[in-house]
Amino acid sequence: MTIQPAGIHHVTAVASDPQANADFYLSALGMRMVKRTVNFDSPDTYHFYYGDSAGHPGTIMTFFPWPGAPKGRHGAGQATTTAFSVPEGSIGWWETHLAKRGVETTRPAERMEEDVLALRDPDGLFIELVASPDHHDTDPWDGGGVPAEHAVRGIRSVTLTEHDLDRTARMLGDHLNFRLHAEEGNRYRFRTAAAGTAVGTVVDVVADPRAPRGLVAAGTVHHVAYRAPDADAQVAWRTELANLGIGVTEVRDRQYFQSIYFREPGGVLLEIATDGPGFDYDEPLLELGRALRLPPWLEPQRSDIERALPSIKTEG
Ligand code: ZN
Repeated sequence: MTIQPAGIHHVTAVASDPQANADFYLSALGMRMVKRTVNFDSPDTYHFYYGDSAGHPGTIMTFFPWPGAPKGRHGAGQATTTAFSVPEGSIGWWETHLAKRGVETTRPAERMEEDVLALRDPDGLFIELVASPDHHDTDPWDGGGVPAEHAVRGIRSVTLTEHDLDRTARMLGDHLNFRLHAEEGNRYRFRTAAAGTAVGTVVDVVADPRAPRGLVAAGTVHHVAYRAPDADAQVAWRTELANLGIGVTEVRDRQYFQSIYFREPGGVLLEIATDGPGFDYDEPLLELGRALRLPPWLEPQRSDIERALPSIKTEG
């Protein structure tokens, strides 16, 4: 393929209670809310974006919190675990920090020579913290009570659970530039060389022919987005996918990036998102995430939208 993707841009998941979601990602994981907006396709619900202090691509975890949403089912055709990169030597600190907040953690046996701490968010989403040196390009946020020396650096990887390894491996190699790097049991690790030691350069595929089909609802990942450097590259990429007969959407305006969507053969919804214009497009960097931001086409409905959204507290 002609396009050289630079790894994961963001991961989007479904939550239920918006306050519990914000408390967990802002206080327990110490990330920054870099955008407080609504689901553009369903503006009566929030869309929260968490990331590093500048909202760099590759550090972004986003949620659609639907109050009262039923629980989803983890399973095949789904990104079943999202891992965040933390500095090497920080896992012990995180164990203590999370225990103080009543968050249960387990420390699986070392995996692929990495130190891993596993936990769940309030909706049961599988989260891991992985000690890794691969995050030289992000700005840790220390405004959430986690000191910069231990702070989450960004997305480390996603784990896709699949019935069939081969067809997903082909998609990762042919269209996303991820190559098989290591394997351990039924876990196959793919890395993209294009991004060097940036965040978001790892995708694990766990091959499990007996796993139930995943069901997207609260506590599950909705889609995984990969980075396109700019709009031209994205259009070229879209053309290439369409020419191969892969069902890909038109380009959609997400304000902070432009997006296209398609599914990998196992069923996981993928997105290609541009690096720009970024989260300081409609508010200054210092004020990211404090106020509800709406795209211009939703501004006329602001008072109705604000009335329908539950209020949440994120400061003080
Ligand atoms: Zn997305």
